[in-house]
Amino acid sequence: MASLIHCPHCGPRPREEFTVRGAAMQRPMPDDSWDDWFAYVYLRENPRGPHREHWQHTGGCRRWLEVTRNTATHETLSVRDAALGTEARP
Ligand SMILES: [Zn+2]
Repeated sequence: MASLIHCPHCGPRPREEFTVRGAAMQRPMPDDSWDDWFAYVYLRENPRGPHREHWQHTGGCRRWLEVTRNTATHETLSVRDAALGTEARP
């Protein structure tokens, strides 16, 4: 059975329609420290458990989504539009 992601705009869609960008991180401000920029550009966590990521629905509405999934079980815990904040209703 295919894994489904509940897009807030398109409803349940197969995972293959989405492209993963990576961890959902807050971009530093231009005048923030080099350490903040270094961490933003180069450092990534590799957690076991819930992890927030940016995904794009490239095979559908093309909106950027913030997906929280469990990295150990691949269970999708929540999906919301990254810009609007609207949550999907599973
Ligand atoms: Zn969509």
